Amino acid sequence: MNTCKQCNAGFEVTDKDREFYDRVSPVIAGKKYSIPAPTLCPDCRQQRRLSFCNERFLYQRECGLCQQRTLSQFGPDAPQPIYCRECWHSDKWDQHESGRDFDFSRPFFEQFAELRRQTPSQALDTQGTLINSDYIHYAGSCKNCYLIMHADFCEDCYYGYGFKKDKSCVDGFYNIKSELCYDCVDVHNCFGLTGSQDCVNCSSSAFLRDCIGCKNCFLCVGLREKEYCFENKQLSKEEYEKKMSEIDLSSHEQYQKYRKRLEELERSHTFKEYTGHNLEDSYGDHLVNCRNTEYSFDCEDLEHAKFCYQVVLGGKNLYDIYQYGSNLQESYECLISGENSFHLLFTFGGHVSSSDLSYCWYMERSKNCFGCTNMFQKSYCILNKQYTKEEYEELVPRIIEHMKKGGEWGEFFSHTVSPFGYNKTTAQMYYPMTKEEVLAKGWKWDDYEPPAPQVEKVIKAEQLPDKTNDIPDDILNWAIRCEETDKPFKLIHPELKFYREQGLPIPRRSPDQRHLDRFHRRNPRKFWDRNCGKCQKDIKTTYSPDRPEVVYCEQCYLKEVY
Ligand SMILES: [Zn+2]
Ligand SMILES: [Zn+2]
Ligand SMILES: [Zn+2]
Repeated sequence: MNTCKQCNAGFEVTDKDREFYDRVSPVIAGKKYSIPAPTLCPDCRQQRRLSFCNERFLYQRECGLCQQRTLSQFGPDAPQPIYCRECWHSDKWDQHESGRDFDFSRPFFEQFAELRRQTPSQALDTQGTLINSDYIHYAGSCKNCYLIMHADFCEDCYYGYGFKKDKSCVDGFYNIKSELCYDCVDVHNCFGLTGSQDCVNCSSSAFLRDCIGCKNCFLCVGLREKEYCFENKQLSKEEYEKKMSEIDLSSHEQYQKYRKRLEELERSHTFKEYTGHNLEDSYGDHLVNCRNTEYSFDCEDLEHAKFCYQVVLGGKNLYDIYQYGSNLQESYECLISGENSFHLLFTFGGHVSSSDLSYCWYMERSKNCFGCTNMFQKSYCILNKQYTKEEYEELVPRIIEHMKKGGEWGEFFSHTVSPFGYNKTTAQMYYPMTKEEVLAKGWKWDDYEPPAPQVEKVIKAEQLPDKTNDIPDDILNWAIRCEETDKPFKLIHPELKFYREQGLPIPRRSPDQRHLDRFHRRNPRKFWDRNCGKCQKDIKTTYSPDRPEVVYCEQCYLKEVY
């Protein structure tokens, strides 16, 4: 058992883990530079990575080159120049301008942080072809999308998190290959689904939980291949249609009533020890099509992976990756990386066919770089300075030796290198801390609040008419005061059109609060030891023992639902 340097928890490093660390250890000019076993437990490592990730606090800024208004993940206090996507990708600036020599008298992380503070950054983290999608972040290749994060290949989607290959999905958390879904969490290949969670291949239904292959069903839990079911009761087509004709989900009151009813039905449902399907030698939660994948969450199409989170659309030989995949291979301790990238180490943002990057931050189409940031189509650079292959292979080993002495080699960037206050990062969602706790650790906290949107008037959520059709177009010029946080938020035109066309209610909570609400509908990323509610076999599950749900092992569960 190893002891975590940060939280003192014991954690295991297996022989298989050691094989992996050896496998990805870089070889430079024929010599291997071994990556040591981690000194932090898996959770503290994930917390450290997440503390670099500002997903939801976006600010109005101006591009430092063309002066156009742009939305940015970096607030007005950020020291580095902020460029819009077009300017950043242009030759209007010199990627080597902030480049510098390595100083062997100082720690590497300190020098890297300094470099990052002086190198122009893209306002938002986006890739691929974007059409009319200026307000998306950690996203790529989208059309007509607005405020979607961790999203790729989407069209006409708004307020989503973890959206992949979706069309017309609004307000969701992990919607994959789906269309016309609203307020759904963890849905795959679904069409016309509302207020549902953990569903695969379902369509034209609302308020489903843990259903597969269902259509025209309402308020059902744990059904397989059913049609015309209402509260899990089989009705005839006529009976079902009659019941549905009395329901109007564009009424806020009715929508809330059915949402509560679903929660009641869920309490008497039997849940499987984990959520996932088509797995081979794998262990985790919300895994789909994975082989030999351990202790991972929300991953799809992975092979030989461990401690991975939200890695989808393909990946192989990966440890400690947070986001995103799309054929990422042979990589360790990275985040927001992928798209045909290979052998990335301790890197944040290794994008689009990048390879052999170590300790880099936001790179596109680059190879063989060490400690570089915000570069594209570069190779053999160190701290953004250009070297020849021979110079690079001579200098990198010396830097590694220097980092070993300072205890930096084999560690991801320390929290102090992060440009963001801990409270503005995803770490605060999964590992919440108070301001005092954060400051006591010497990490950053950020109290900055951007100004409220300029609007004609602000209306309280409870003053809105109950039904969407009774709400005038004027609402687009107003802001709604969030019923939970009091923060004003605005609707956008295509969003209002979507609610009207689909017969759905106008939201009364801000997009951030809705995101948090959906986040809390999911289980935590933590395993507890429990016994199967039927056969008493030992199981590992994300349902803590004090929760009301009945939890079965996979075998007992399958007997129950099929
Ligand atoms: Zn720990
Ligand atoms: Zn610009
Ligand atoms: Zn059992």
